Amino acid sequence: MTTMPGVLESRNPARPDEVVGAAALADPAELDAEIAAARAAQAAWDGLGIVERGRILRRAAGELERRAEDLAALLTAEQGKTLDEARVELGGSVETLLYHAGHARDADGATYPSGNPDELIRTVRVPVGLVAAITPWNFPVQIPIWKMAPALLHGNAVLWKPSSETPMVSLALAEALVAGGVPEDVLRVLIGGGDVGRALVAHPAVGAITFTGSVPVGRGIAIQAAERGAKVQLELGGHSACIVCPDVDPAWAAGIALAGAMGGSGQKCTATRRIIAVGAALDPLLEELRRQTPLLAVGDGASAGVQIGPLVSEPARDGVAAALAEALAEGAEVVAEAPVPADGGWYQAPTVLRGHPGLAICREEVFGPVAVVLGVDDLDAAIALANATDFGLTATVLTRDERAVRRCVRELEAGIVKANAPNTGSELHVPFGGLKDSSFPAPREQNAASAAEFFTWSKSAYLRVPPEAAS
Ligand code: NAD
Repeated sequence: MTTMPGVLESRNPARPDEVVGAAALADPAELDAEIAAARAAQAAWDGLGIVERGRILRRAAGELERRAEDLAALLTAEQGKTLDEARVELGGSVETLLYHAGHARDADGATYPSGNPDELIRTVRVPVGLVAAITPWNFPVQIPIWKMAPALLHGNAVLWKPSSETPMVSLALAEALVAGGVPEDVLRVLIGGGDVGRALVAHPAVGAITFTGSVPVGRGIAIQAAERGAKVQLELGGHSACIVCPDVDPAWAAGIALAGAMGGSGQKCTATRRIIAVGAALDPLLEELRRQTPLLAVGDGASAGVQIGPLVSEPARDGVAAALAEALAEGAEVVAEAPVPADGGWYQAPTVLRGHPGLAICREEVFGPVAVVLGVDDLDAAIALANATDFGLTATVLTRDERAVRRCVRELEAGIVKANAPNTGSELHVPFGGLKDSSFPAPREQNAASAAEFFTWSKSAYLRVPPEAAS
């Protein structure tokens, strides 16, 4: 929210009268100066060598850990997630820094035999140079760290454009990393909206763009990047399905489905949007969802016992409410909802719908705590329905049947397939990304080896020595 020219004010979604802070907006017209500073600093950063950069990242992790409690409180105040969720995010971010720092001494190339016995052939990695990291508000610490830790380790300078919904926690994160020893000019934070992101993507000095956000914005970035030959990595939206088979306990299955759908107020790319009940699983599952959903504790994420916070902003909340109203107009029915405080916070009641695949909400990503239950006759139909989406981020199946699990791993069109676990959640060192519209064919995030592929160029070096001088 902009209150005066050049300033971005952020508010607490649980108490919208409370201003969390105000940040200076970056001016896209001054991007050249930012780029020049980053470029100059990058050469020195590269010159330190990867082992020393790994040490610095470890110190930065230590500094982030010391500040974790303050940052978690700020994250809750600015973004709305619960304090427990914020603490998990901070802990994961510290560990991500340590994980990438721990790869500083990995082998950095391969050797090959040559037709010339005196020749050494090896591959070497060099940094891309300047990397733009453009990130969303839903994990405003963890997602940037997934990108920045490996980008910095491999000798790049990062121009980071966080979401304009979460400026204060972004600045606090960058401050912690700088206090830990990351030079200020190799981590430039540009606070602003799409105009700042567009300017970064268009700048010819930016060699790689790592983006997490929505499909339409990501698509536009990919086209622009391709035009000028920049590397691009996109992690985009999702419309994940949770298939529930009749051989599992319906109370447990409802708990898994609700955790996936409502955690983080449904503001996760991996969130369960469609709950697909197979055959006789449907009725007991609906009964359990009716029983469990109203028990969800919605409120200010800073209060003890709250499981689900408000949505990030008023427009976000209104958008979800409008999509819900549209689904009801199209014939969906409310199975259950949870009560929300009537205190002016930007709350959306967690809602489970019973619907049909033709609903707009079954096609479009509605970024909030709403899931639709769909009934099918058998696993064939469940897999076909789970795949009937343009997205392909995660899918999960709840069953005791190992054969069904193996089939789902093969046939579900998702970059992450799970069995007997919520759609949401991933390990920080496992390659992460979607299929179909949820991603882009680039090396995946999170895993050190694939991150190295993205944030460096590889060269093949053919190294001969001249003959000894004739005496
Ligand atoms: P968004 O696409 O609106 O914005 C993401 C970032 O892009 C923000 O920093 C925004 O300011 C910037 N931006 C907007 N227009 C731009 C442009 N034209 N050029 C360059 N940058 C631009 O997404 P959001 O609302 O912040 O986040 C929610 C979306 O992110 C959802 O679709 C969600 O599924 C997705 N997401 C995906 C993942 C994943 O890993 N796949 C993780 C989290 C969120």
